[in-house]
Amino acid sequence: MAISPLMPVYPRCEVEPVRGEGAYLYDANGRQWLDFASGIAVNLLGHGHPHLTQAIQKQAATLMHVSNLYGSPQQMAVARRLTELTFADTVFFTNSGAEAIECTVKTVRAYHYATGNPQKYRMLTFSNAFHGRTLATISATDQEKLRKGFEPLPDWFTVLPFNDLAAAEAAIDDSIGGFLVEPIQGEGGIRPATPEFLAGLRTLADKHGILLALDEVQCGVGRTGTLFAHEQYGVTPDVMAVAKGIGGGFPVGACLATEKAATGMVAGTHGSTYGGNPLAMAACGAVLDVVAEPAFLAEVKAKGERLRAALEQMIPNHDLFDHVRGMGLMLGLKLTADSRAFVAHARSNHGLLTVAAGDNVVRILPPLNIDESHIRECVEKLSAAAAAFQVPKAA
Ligand SMILES: *Cc1c(COP(=O)(O)O)cnc(C)c1O
Repeated sequence: MAISPLMPVYPRCEVEPVRGEGAYLYDANGRQWLDFASGIAVNLLGHGHPHLTQAIQKQAATLMHVSNLYGSPQQMAVARRLTELTFADTVFFTNSGAEAIECTVKTVRAYHYATGNPQKYRMLTFSNAFHGRTLATISATDQEKLRKGFEPLPDWFTVLPFNDLAAAEAAIDDSIGGFLVEPIQGEGGIRPATPEFLAGLRTLADKHGILLALDEVQCGVGRTGTLFAHEQYGVTPDVMAVAKGIGGGFPVGACLATEKAATGMVAGTHGSTYGGNPLAMAACGAVLDVVAEPAFLAEVKAKGERLRAALEQMIPNHDLFDHVRGMGLMLGLKLTADSRAFVAHARSNHGLLTVAAGDNVVRILPPLNIDESHIRECVEKLSAAAAAFQVPKAA
């Protein structure tokens, strides 16, 4: 048989971590990497964080799973905390980001259905967005590499240029029920929405009686230095999808909504077997214990500024580096060459894990609890990697 026992949908690289400690990963031979990828913005307390691992261990031994047919004090406690910490009045827990987006889209649909506008079933999304890999979520992007081979896809989304408010306004008609947007595009290349764009979408949504749904799966949960990125824009959504960091490595996602936006999400309209099980809630609660503290968030902001300043100082020394963008500890280093090749080089030859993104950007997504020494080490490794990097010849 030629096919791998693991369905070969990922072009996996040579790194095979078996252990993690803080901001470092180790393979079976003891080889070490500085992990500034964090499982793609997931391990926001690094690896083996004692508060998180103890919470999971304790809950695993007490009660791992019960059906959502039963009451869940564990889920209620985390939902209550999230509603206290955010704009939201109600929360649905999922196991992944794509499922959180699915719930978000269903919430918007159900709102218009329940309020007598079932024709408003479409949503406006934005170029280079990434909302996940399910059939609904790949139909919400224009990224060819996600859609190819899976068309025809449901025609529920119109994809518009990102940060183009006039295009968004012009696209609203009676079939549009809302916007779905990442405040900072992650996979698309660490592209922040402009303040005018996000605020403008809020204004348009209010004017047309439609909903603003944010995808904070990557930029949420402290990553940018506030609990959620939209706080820094002064823009409040009606619905928001969250995942990645919120379980700190345990699979958890959530769809948060205002009471009004959740009008249609009544008993029987949605569900998930695992979503919000006690083990997931223990992880989520432990992450929030640490990340939702104002002092911790202030530290993330300060570290983000120091990392950004250090990167900016390094840029003029290397033709490879163009500029830095992003917010907090969600930074993108724009290259003048292929970022995928550079990420592989830094990983293989300099022991530094980062993630490539669209637009030849190197995504720098460290754990949020790094210290000064990790920032220095990252910049030293990037600098050494750039000095040794042979720009691949164009094909
Ligand atoms: C990763 C991601 C998703 C999908 O999350 P999964 O857990 O992989 O399903 C959705 N939106 C954004 C912005 C993401 O970064």
